[in-house]
Amino acid sequence: MNTQQSQNTNSTTNTANTNAVNISSVEEYFQLVETKVNADSALTRATAETTPQQNANWFDAVPSTFTAAQRAHTTILHAGLTMAHDLFIQSAFRGLGYKVQAMDVPDNAALQVGREFGNRGQCNPTYFTVGNLVKQLQALEASGMSKPHIIENYLFATAGSCGPCRFGTYVTEYRKALRDSGFEGFRVIMFQQAGGMKQAAGQDMGLKIDTEFFLFMSKAIVLGDVLNALTYRIRPYEIEPGRTDAVIKNAKERIAQAFESRKGLLKALWQTRKEIAAIKVDRTQVKPKVAIIGEFWAMTTEGDGNYKMHRFLEQEGAEVDIQLVVNWGLYLLWGAKFDTQTRMQLKGVDKGGRDGSKFALENVNATKKIWMLRTAETFMRGLFYGYAKLLGLRDYHLPDMNHIAQISHAFYDNNLRGGEGHMEVGKLIHNVVDQKVNMTLSIKPFGCMPSSAVSDGVQSLITEMYPASIFLPIETNGDGAVNVYSRVQMQLFKAKQMAERELHEGLAELNLSPAEFKNLVVNSPKFSSASYRSPHAGACTALDVLADIRNHQKPWLLRHAQSTLNIFKRTAHHHKQNTLLAVERAALSFKQRKQPSAEMAVKFVEL
Ligand code: SF4
Repeated sequence: MNTQQSQNTNSTTNTANTNAVNISSVEEYFQLVETKVNADSALTRATAETTPQQNANWFDAVPSTFTAAQRAHTTILHAGLTMAHDLFIQSAFRGLGYKVQAMDVPDNAALQVGREFGNRGQCNPTYFTVGNLVKQLQALEASGMSKPHIIENYLFATAGSCGPCRFGTYVTEYRKALRDSGFEGFRVIMFQQAGGMKQAAGQDMGLKIDTEFFLFMSKAIVLGDVLNALTYRIRPYEIEPGRTDAVIKNAKERIAQAFESRKGLLKALWQTRKEIAAIKVDRTQVKPKVAIIGEFWAMTTEGDGNYKMHRFLEQEGAEVDIQLVVNWGLYLLWGAKFDTQTRMQLKGVDKGGRDGSKFALENVNATKKIWMLRTAETFMRGLFYGYAKLLGLRDYHLPDMNHIAQISHAFYDNNLRGGEGHMEVGKLIHNVVDQKVNMTLSIKPFGCMPSSAVSDGVQSLITEMYPASIFLPIETNGDGAVNVYSRVQMQLFKAKQMAERELHEGLAELNLSPAEFKNLVVNSPKFSSASYRSPHAGACTALDVLADIRNHQKPWLLRHAQSTLNIFKRTAHHHKQNTLLAVERAALSFKQRKQPSAEMAVKFVEL
């Protein structure tokens, strides 16, 4: 600084602040600055010195007290699955003596509320579901209830988890949004999805999680699944438009009533079976079958969370192959069994308690645990197939979770959890190799960590291995529906062409014209009944029907001899082995085409 600048500095300081001390030189000025900085630092240090109490970890209280005495005046809000599931769960709760209200399926308005009150950077299902709760509470307030009244007399029950993805932070998100929207203290009860009956037990608990509760909820979920599976199989082929929806609406009301009154469930199911069987269908229509897979909530919801994709696909002339909620339960049981069996092989002590893992096997009878998990799986499958038989859902196979794990492990390690884990990869391979569907649509929520790794990452490798497969991942963020629809339409066009080509080849083999095929089917009481299902033979339903007709043209004795032989040959087991071999072959040929970039595929053939 030169003399002139120094003089300017002095004069500026003196004129700008009349309270300032007189500074006659630059050195004095710097001295003063240093003194002030030191004083400020000392003050900051003094402020930072806190009491041990102030130093304790930040803790966000989670109000969730619900006592038996509060049961009579407390309404439990819930939502999150399909409309059928939410209705049956509501009725099952009511049948157990609770006041319950199923909320609406989350829509775009719920998403906006979620965005307004939620943290930045959450995955899309968080915004939809958290926003849906706040939206519901705001609606209650708008109807004339005060906030304290709502907080006192309502609570929200939902499923939770400890992670590893954002599912583990849902409870925190609910708390933040509730606090910021003015509903501080509103209770959220989380069932740990892997917690079983250990949680919330006790005489004074408002919610009694006991055997009866599990039985009712299992029935409600499985019946929702069976009814949905029937709906999506029948509706695309109904001859009278709207008939399926009308029958299913009546069925839902009847079944819900039976749950609430705790009587007449079997009668309600039998009545539903008769009404479904009376729906007339024409399954000669060529409709590409589209499997919807992806993140659990995004692929399950029937609202704006996936742009109402199920309905859209049907309107565009597809048959939708939905994922059932019970599959998720089977995956959780598989995971618990897999982890227990792996931990059983540990050499040292599998330490539990504060210093160990909550999944540890120390002081646990592991063999008994495995048997309990097997029993739970048998129960779940038995319940599903029992209700499926009662309602007339034929030839529906729940996935073999070991098989799905086997075919996907080399591409997505079975130990990786979060989202759908390896299941999404296994489903795509299964769909392609076993010609289960014409097209696979993966619904990937915006901001979803596991889906980004799978849909954008691993599935690219699978589709490279199977170039003929039609796979489309779509990202859902609540906006850009037109863009998503147009991408779906483009792939659907290809899938439809593929389905038509396959059917025409089949018809040519049987020397049948499309009109003759239609006549045969529509005039047959068996083939035109909604409750009949031809065994799986190809990717689309029309192809199944054609193969069935071909089979029916064989002499009765030959047909039955073949099916008996199939039982002895353990056809299902051989089929799975063949699928595994086919995946190995595809990986090998991919390796030859793509060396050396195909390391993951190589890993598979080296296993
Ligand atoms: S799987 Fe994805 S969308 Fe679902 S909770 Fe986890 S991060 Fe969110």
